[in-house]
Amino acid sequence: MHASSGNKVIALPGLTTGRLHFCSSTTFLAIRRSTKNDPFVQSNPKSLSELLSHRPRLPQLKQIHAQVVVFQAVSSYPSLPDSLIHCYVSSKDLTSARTLFNYYPFPPPPTLLWNILIRAHSKLRNCQEPFKLFRQMLALDPASLVFPDKYTFTFVVTSCSHQADLVNGEIVHGMAGKKGLESDLYVGNALISMYSVFGKMEDAHKVFDEMSDWDVFSWTSLLCGYAKHGDMCRACEIFVQIPVRNSVSWTVMISGFVGAGKYVEALNNFHDMLCDDKVQANEAIIVCALSACAHLGALDQGNWIHVYIGKLRIPESSNICTALIDTYAKCGRIDCATRVFNGLSRRDVHNYTSMISGLAIHGLGKDALHVFHQMLAENVDPNEVTLLGVLNGCSHSGLVEDGSSIFYNMESLWGVMPKIEHYGCYVDLLSRAGCLERAFDMVKSMPMNPDIVIWRALLNGCRIHRNANLAECIVNHIGQVVSRGCNGGEVLLSNLYASLGRWEGVAQVRKLMGERKAESNLGLSWIELGGVFHEFQVADSLHPQITEIRHKLKEVMEKARLGGYVANTMQVSFDLNEEDKEQAVAWHSEKLAVAFALMSTPPGTSIRIVKNLRTCEDCHTALKAISKVYGREIIVRDRSRFHSFRQGDCSCNDYW
Ligand code: ZN
Ligand code: ZN
Repeated sequence: MHASSGNKVIALPGLTTGRLHFCSSTTFLAIRRSTKNDPFVQSNPKSLSELLSHRPRLPQLKQIHAQVVVFQAVSSYPSLPDSLIHCYVSSKDLTSARTLFNYYPFPPPPTLLWNILIRAHSKLRNCQEPFKLFRQMLALDPASLVFPDKYTFTFVVTSCSHQADLVNGEIVHGMAGKKGLESDLYVGNALISMYSVFGKMEDAHKVFDEMSDWDVFSWTSLLCGYAKHGDMCRACEIFVQIPVRNSVSWTVMISGFVGAGKYVEALNNFHDMLCDDKVQANEAIIVCALSACAHLGALDQGNWIHVYIGKLRIPESSNICTALIDTYAKCGRIDCATRVFNGLSRRDVHNYTSMISGLAIHGLGKDALHVFHQMLAENVDPNEVTLLGVLNGCSHSGLVEDGSSIFYNMESLWGVMPKIEHYGCYVDLLSRAGCLERAFDMVKSMPMNPDIVIWRALLNGCRIHRNANLAECIVNHIGQVVSRGCNGGEVLLSNLYASLGRWEGVAQVRKLMGERKAESNLGLSWIELGGVFHEFQVADSLHPQITEIRHKLKEVMEKARLGGYVANTMQVSFDLNEEDKEQAVAWHSEKLAVAFALMSTPPGTSIRIVKNLRTCEDCHTALKAISKVYGREIIVRDRSRFHSFRQGDCSCNDYW
């Protein structure tokens, strides 16, 4: 061999028939280290091939490779390069595999080798290699009889979905179609999966329909595509047709419903799954089901799942514990959340984050800060969600100094750049604490455009601290920003003008919005009674008992009025007269839920309601009065925190 010392590349006649330049320095060292006592020293090409068939580890592989070179074994055993490439691929040394492949002796490598390399590279992120190899393969002389087969197409399509390369994926799809491979199970599955990744569900379904045979992967990919892109109607259609449902398909359904905000359906599916004998709940399913409970505030169901985990001896992994802490906290049982948290022998950032955020929504800012400091003492670094949680905690407890020091040191201490959500939290903190000028200055100097959440936080501060002058000034400022075409502000602005009684301003903004229909969020409230969920919309007409509920609500509001409640119509749309406005706030979803609870539960029991939006001032006042008149504890979790109404007062001290 022509080894030149000091040079990293050495000419290797054994593999090269004179034109190859491949031998890495480690391979060269392996040659020098070889001794006669070493079991890996073999001069016989057949024994070398046998050694390779045992899939040696990388250092041994390099020694064998070295000997293939030294003893010029390829000439008498031409399959050695194939075996070497195989072994390098299984040792994940793709660079060596690819280099050997590039200098493959004539004739060109067989299709199997191309496939192995394409597949190996398709698993890497940001790697163009599979498509490059595919094009090289297509450019081969047809006389070589090396053509892409169904596996080649499968791996190239898979690689296109990993690389987010739809354009090339569609080209490859066209080529597979010409070769009649489109209906093949493997190619078809890869295509369904690719189109599902890109949300092109029509194309995915078309491929599915044209396949001659389906396996569990075909069904799951299609189901997953619909569920991931929020089309749960189509997902349900597919799901009922699946011949055999497994834990993956159930997970897809349950997590799909959670992702689409259909929590009741998610839990219904979870219960259906429990009735399926062939499937056992796994971590992913439990975490999804708990997440649905957390959103709904479904304490009984959450509790039941906790017991179920214990009974089935499903290991309480970090993910499950994080979900349990979150669920208990969001169901109003911070004591149970704390018990799960304290029971952990080791805590990671997710456990801490869940606990801190839970304490924050309960208005327990000091406890949230305490856990945060405990986390730092245990050398667990907070992430952006943890910091959001702790800022939120400071905000609900008026801890301005602690919150400020965290906000201003996020980047230097923990490497987290404040995002718009962190600014939102901090502005909220300053506004609630009455530092309104400081908050407004902060908003004006933010590095990004303030969003509707931030303006709302600022104006909420003005409302709490009854500062109408500043509110007016802020509204004018927003008016300028909105008229400059900053989106999302219109609804807010129109509501603001309405709350200040400036109806001409409201009309102006509505005009400005013109045809663009700004959709305001629909208010929804949930209540769980005897394991059944009831959902109420504003001015609901869907609930089967709605007539009785409305009747009851009228009676409840009458009594509340006698208890001192006066309707507050400031936040209602402008084009209604005073009487209509009172009607509009009267039908808010949480009031309907309370009326329903009062007619369906025994006197004296607590009422738990979850609302998807922040509760309005009128409902807040009404619920305080109702709690007193009816002698009931009413616990409402709105988007921002818990309110516990008791004897005419709320745990938030009207500070929300
Ligand atoms: Zn309301
Ligand atoms: Zn409150």
